[in-house]
Amino acid sequence: MISQNIYNKINKSSWIRAMFEEGAKLRKIHGAENVYDFSLGNPDYEPPVEVKNAIKKYTSDDCTGLHRYMSNAGHPEVREKIAEKTSEESGLPVTQNHIIMTCGAAGGLNVVLKTILNPEDEVIVFSPYFVEYLFYIENCSGKPVVVPADPQTFEPSLDLLARSITPKCKAIIINSPNNPTGVVYSEETLKKIAALLETKETEFSSEILVISDEPYSKIVYDQVEVPNILKIFKHSAIVNSYSKSLAIPGERVGYIAVNPSITDVDLLINGIIFCNRTLGFVNAPSLFQKVIADSLDAVVNTDEYKKRRDFLYNNLIELGYSCVKPQGAFYLFPQSLIPDDIEFAKRALKHNLLIVPGSGFGCPGYFRLAYCVDFKSIKNSIPAFKSLAEEIKG
Ligand code: PLP
Repeated sequence: MISQNIYNKINKSSWIRAMFEEGAKLRKIHGAENVYDFSLGNPDYEPPVEVKNAIKKYTSDDCTGLHRYMSNAGHPEVREKIAEKTSEESGLPVTQNHIIMTCGAAGGLNVVLKTILNPEDEVIVFSPYFVEYLFYIENCSGKPVVVPADPQTFEPSLDLLARSITPKCKAIIINSPNNPTGVVYSEETLKKIAALLETKETEFSSEILVISDEPYSKIVYDQVEVPNILKIFKHSAIVNSYSKSLAIPGERVGYIAVNPSITDVDLLINGIIFCNRTLGFVNAPSLFQKVIADSLDAVVNTDEYKKRRDFLYNNLIELGYSCVKPQGAFYLFPQSLIPDDIEFAKRALKHNLLIVPGSGFGCPGYFRLAYCVDFKSIKNSIPAFKSLAEEIKG
């Protein structure tokens, strides 16, 4: 029954899932506490108290009519609150009309891409990338164009980007703080990209939408600021989500904020609302729209994430691993100790370490560690990283 296309894709997309299954096997043999699973970006925290209180409030008997359909863009009062915040942060006249509630960032990305892509339109993504981007682009008949990031910093390489933009380029996906590197793009780099895009748009008489995928924008360390994308790029849309910032990935809620400076912005917004409906999302979950509106200033404990980042990073460096120090998200992306990162991940399994090879993110020679696991497990994993390094170095 299965289509050839989906059959091929299932086989391409299975790294994280494969690790997950390996993990289940190892846990059975060695006991859960002796397996160090860094494979999944699934927050281990409980949601902040604001979320729990709001759930109680909106599920009480006095709260009626909440479980019905609403506008496909979402509850107006929720969008109003998000618009106010977005307007404050960007200095732009963002109103509730520019905000569309979505089923997480994944839903939002599919909706934006579906709205703007004609068949074979190109979408630029930087590698290493969140692997789902390729599937989302192809879901919408587009063509992913992968541009390697600068391996010294994991920021986009301007030269390579300039060479990759063709007249068919319709969008570029930016993800900062980044999955899998944890790197936050600097304002300087983003401004250079903006200047480059303007030049290319003039050269090709085209419009290129910057889609900023920002589920980690609130998970940052060392007082780093995440530059505001709407301020920097005229043709831009933010796709955001509460999956990571409020640790509610199972509840599927996020939003799209469209830059009000886009020409014919109302038409674009109508397209987005139409696609939110006809891709089958219909609207973002009603209860959780309300819940996040009461929790807009809340965020999970980033100090605890920072503690884990520092501990894991410092120990790996001491053991001879090399890694760009991340300033956000909850991932490290060190270099594999042998060129073949897939073989490296297999050898790590023998030390009960579950890691994801960089090849799964379009960046061979590296591996990803998701440190959204408890501190004790991180601490206990260090001897395993040590014995893995010793085994490889002989
Ligand atoms: N974008 C990136 C970079 C992610 O890492 C994830 C989830 O891990 C998503 C999007 C999807 O997030 P959501 O749960 O909001 O759909």
